[in-house]
Amino acid sequence: MEPPVRIIQSLCTGCELCVNACPQHVLQMTADISRLAGKVARVANPDMCTGCAQCEDACPDFCIRVTAVVV
Ligand code: SF4
Ligand code: SF4
Repeated sequence: MEPPVRIIQSLCTGCELCVNACPQHVLQMTADISRLAGKVARVANPDMCTGCAQCEDACPDFCIRVTAVVV
């Protein structure tokens, strides 16, 4: 099944706001030397995602998409 949260990494500036916003610790930064910030956000623990969309709201660059969680 597709995870409820998706990061469009090509748009990510590595600001880390989404990582700090997620109460479930779903998102993490990962090193990427090809980027200005040297890091990019990734979905590390998709099974923990509740679909709350706090990460989507926190991202200033609109690179997070959250779809509804079906329970
Ligand atoms: S939707 Fe909520 S639980 Fe899922 S990654 Fe974003 S902030 Fe975390
Ligand atoms: S908030 Fe957006 S731009 Fe910042 S690290 Fe997360 S996905 Fe990247």
